Amino acid sequence: MTPPFLQLSAIGRTYTAGSEPLTVLREISLEINSGEFVAIMGASGSGKSTLMNIIGCLDKPSIGSYRVLGREVATLDSDGLAQLRRDTFGFIFQRYNLMSDLSAVENAEAPAIYAGIPKSVRTNRASELLQELGLGERLHHHPNELSGGQQQRVSIARALMNNGLVILADEPTGALDSSGGKEVMAILEKLHQQGHTIILVTHDSNIAAYAHRLVRIVDGCITSDEQQKAGTATSQGKEKSGEDVKPSIPALGEALKIAVRSLMNNRLRAGLTMLGIIIGVASVVAMMAAGNGAKAAVDERMQAMGTNLLTVERGVPAVRSSGELITTFLPEDIPSIISIPGVEMAIPETEGSTLLRFDNQDLLVTTVGTGEEFPRVHDWPAELGTFFSAEHVKRQAQVVVIGQTIMKTLFSGRETGLGEYIIIGNAPFLVVGVLSSKGTTARGDDLDNSVWMPYTTAGARIFGQRFFKRFVVRVKPEADMDTVAANLRALFIHRHRKVDFNIRNQADAIEMANETQNTLTYLLATIAIISLIVGGIGVMNIMLVSVTERTREIGIRMAIGARGTDVMLQFLTEAVMVCFIGGIAGVLVGVGGGIAVSTLFGLRMIFTIGPIVIAFACAFLTGILSGYLPARKAAHLDPIEALARE
Ligand code: ADP
Ligand code: MG
Repeated sequence: MTPPFLQLSAIGRTYTAGSEPLTVLREISLEINSGEFVAIMGASGSGKSTLMNIIGCLDKPSIGSYRVLGREVATLDSDGLAQLRRDTFGFIFQRYNLMSDLSAVENAEAPAIYAGIPKSVRTNRASELLQELGLGERLHHHPNELSGGQQQRVSIARALMNNGLVILADEPTGALDSSGGKEVMAILEKLHQQGHTIILVTHDSNIAAYAHRLVRIVDGCITSDEQQKAGTATSQGKEKSGEDVKPSIPALGEALKIAVRSLMNNRLRAGLTMLGIIIGVASVVAMMAAGNGAKAAVDERMQAMGTNLLTVERGVPAVRSSGELITTFLPEDIPSIISIPGVEMAIPETEGSTLLRFDNQDLLVTTVGTGEEFPRVHDWPAELGTFFSAEHVKRQAQVVVIGQTIMKTLFSGRETGLGEYIIIGNAPFLVVGVLSSKGTTARGDDLDNSVWMPYTTAGARIFGQRFFKRFVVRVKPEADMDTVAANLRALFIHRHRKVDFNIRNQADAIEMANETQNTLTYLLATIAIISLIVGGIGVMNIMLVSVTERTREIGIRMAIGARGTDVMLQFLTEAVMVCFIGGIAGVLVGVGGGIAVSTLFGLRMIFTIGPIVIAFACAFLTGILSGYLPARKAAHLDPIEALARE
């Protein structure tokens, strides 16, 4: 024997909101067969809607058992209930419950979205249903452009959309005038003749008279249950075919559409929310570009000083000066250094602050004693005149090459100073050349405030010592820096019999400078990402508002069969879309702003794809993270409570 179609056994419903529990339904036992036309009649407040919501699986009984086709509803999870609402029941509400920003067709087809029906199929079916219900001319009208009766007919089309077996109508004529009410009842009668099971709730005996069976309810109890017309009930009735389809792609398409519509309806709000994301993404992009630009500038300056240089410095590595002066760096070392394979050239360097005098001007300058290959070792050529020669070194000539700063100060642009004698220490020196400008170091030392003279002359006349501060070794491009450094080390240990020196590699120095620069870049990136997070909080905030505003819409969607995941997808999509568009705009603003700043202030900016992708991905992730909480809140709403919201 097949089980009754709908079977309620000793159902009770108690509301626990408020201070005292309120029992609204007591001991309701009712069997409804497929194809019946039942009216549930009672006074206002007698519990009819509560009963209807339980029958339609929008609400669960507090006690008792409810079976649909033999299946106990209490055992179903929320997705299972959503499936029943979607496939088996069609709701018609007193206040229509249409979604105001959707047209008649879109409202009618909504349940099919959640059943996974393709767009063209569902639009066709919705149009057909509306045509049958006499709304062929009103397909694209919105609810506020339709009369009450027309709106109710749209909601009937919606109830029929998924070919549900049961039409549940809660006071369907309650908000209509008598002719509108008659029309709706005529439609219900016709649907009943076509095999639908109709359950109608009303307080009006004239309306109840349409039904074939009348159930009276007083204060939550059934007081009578009688057949008033010849029954058409069948134990089988109309059969429903088709399995639950996985509503994935249509649901996503629909979620996108809803998201776009929601954003368009709240343009200012969406724009302001997006602004947070735009600022965040733009600052990540621009700050990373600025960081990279600064790094490249430092890099270039370091490169300009030569990457294939090894510097042998006095002093034990990693030990602060012991006070003992190291005097072992001598002119005799130079030939040995040059004999190392891979060494292109080597010069000694010693510098110190000295007083320089010309006419009656005194300057404090850096005097460097070095070899004639200085310009080639450091890629630092003379701009005027020549650098001193090997001959000058050999003869201990009193010649000097001056830096640009000194030239400008002493000769104030009128003359170059070439051929003049200047006094350094107490000796006169002939100016033979002016070096090109090198600018200031990262530490702010002016490299052009120096003079260069043969190390022989400097040793004898200025410093009064033969030994040097360092050797600078230029390595041949094809040679391996590490090998040369190792050989250099071996040579010095051999000559000095101890490690009283250390060898620095220009490439290492570059790396260190890069690391410092990286730290700065990361700092900038952190600040930028914090602003992105703040933007994300803005999105979350607005999404929470959006969920609150659209609670009723969520209730309607759940009543027509949306699952929690569908609702969740809808809000997530919206949040992600805000962040997606904000992300794109942010990248554009970041790049545009960066270019503007760099041309206006001459700041170097280097845009690479990495930070742009990262910033964009962060924005996307922000969308998901900040949308998740509000979306989950929406998905967990109770359909009844959501529907009750104004
Ligand atoms: P009807 O549809 O017959 O007019 P309802 O089923 O809507 O009656 O309500 C029956 C009783 O339950 C009413 O007294 C109402 O105040 C109460 N009620 C309905 N919904 C809730 C709720 N969510 N929380 C508390 N009480 C409720
Ligand atoms: Mg009611």
